[in-house]
Amino acid sequence: MTALETVIGLEVHVELGTKTKIFCSCAVEFGAPPNSHVCPVCLGSPGALPVLNEQALALGIRAALALNCSVPAQSKFDRKNYFYPDSPKAYQISQYDEPIGQHGFIEIAVGGEKKRIGITRVHLEEDAGKLNHSPYGDVSFVDLNRVGIPLIEIVSEPDIRSAEEARLYLEEIRSIMQYCLVSECRMEEGSLRCDANISLRPVGQREFGTKTEIKNMNSFRNVQRGLEYEQERQTGILARGENIAQQTLRWDEATGTTLVMRSKEDAHDYRYFPDPDLPRIVLSAAYIDARRDEIPELPAQMRERFEREYGLPAYDAGVLTASRGLAEYFDQTAQRVRDPKSASNWIMGELLAYLKAAMLEIDEIHVTPFALADLIRLIEDGTISAKIAKTLLKDMLDSGKDAKTLIAEQGLIQISDEGELRAIALRVLAANPKTVDDYRAGKEKALGSLVGQMMKETRGKANPQIVNRVILELIAGGE
Ligand SMILES: [Zn+2]
Repeated sequence: MTALETVIGLEVHVELGTKTKIFCSCAVEFGAPPNSHVCPVCLGSPGALPVLNEQALALGIRAALALNCSVPAQSKFDRKNYFYPDSPKAYQISQYDEPIGQHGFIEIAVGGEKKRIGITRVHLEEDAGKLNHSPYGDVSFVDLNRVGIPLIEIVSEPDIRSAEEARLYLEEIRSIMQYCLVSECRMEEGSLRCDANISLRPVGQREFGTKTEIKNMNSFRNVQRGLEYEQERQTGILARGENIAQQTLRWDEATGTTLVMRSKEDAHDYRYFPDPDLPRIVLSAAYIDARRDEIPELPAQMRERFEREYGLPAYDAGVLTASRGLAEYFDQTAQRVRDPKSASNWIMGELLAYLKAAMLEIDEIHVTPFALADLIRLIEDGTISAKIAKTLLKDMLDSGKDAKTLIAEQGLIQISDEGELRAIALRVLAANPKTVDDYRAGKEKALGSLVGQMMKETRGKANPQIVNRVILELIAGGE
């Protein structure tokens, strides 16, 4: 059988971080009691007129520019007509043929190589309501708080070639949106959602195969799992010489399979037409430039700068730019220490482990970048050992006290006094004659055991370099 190539395109919905809905003044609040944030406009009462929320427009354009899209001077809103209980108006206000952004791209790193994924378009639209299906019977409840929350839909070109690339692309989109303060992109709260279409074709063939669309992949892991599953399912169908049916599928996390939702509808089924209640969007060049100026240093630029400016490995730069908060934390710390790589090690090691265990974000902890830099400098100038610093950092995270205070409280200053260490070493050597003999007989490991004894005697406070030297000198001198 000929080798098959996987072709994936993603449609990503991002909730814009506005205070109010896109066409009315209802508040946007996750987790509010059902149907508590609704009004005649978002409920679609006859005669109620929508008015565009300027903040939603500004965030949408900022997002489009951050995704390297061109933003045309004019665009418009259209009605996408469909009948379903999650939409009381029986249409969704969206953008059909004149989106606010088009022809963009982002870059992802695949196996150490940069890969560009094209972005077809970015458009503004309103969200629909949420149906909650009762577990007790044939009943569903509708919560219309979400109706009218501003969204952008980001449509990729079919440039993605694997489930892993899809996950990387989605993670990069999330980073960019978070860096730009467009959205918090919490997948678990639905403020970042992803639908994917996937098809297979023989390698070398230009035409696309029949695609299926997968919905309801509500975590990064599920996006990858869902696409891997669907890729295998389609491969199996084609291997049996059967045809793929064009369908919309639902990812079922519990069973790890996709289920058929419905046969796919085409754009003409929605009877798009321009919304007569909303004026065209007309943007001045100055307005677009102002949105461009709001874009901060983006994750890709930051990764590059961390490698260039601080000499970090690409891996470190990738981990540290996963969120803007973490990247800024590292940036601030690295500027204040001699060796930026040590700042990276402390943050990627101890700090990230702590955040994960405590389920906290970097801006929720007691230790500021300044305090961490102080701690690292104390190691760099030999005041404390790295081992003690580890314990100290835990204490700092728990108590909020700085390193110097804790060192004074606990008497932890490193012993670098050679005379004092020599005296302790003499005692250790005298108490361990067999280990000394082992070392003399060529067992290198015996030295480690003696150093370990010294550390025990000094409760970890001995300067390890000096301890090593003193022990070697004493053993050599004893011959
Ligand atoms: Zn409303």
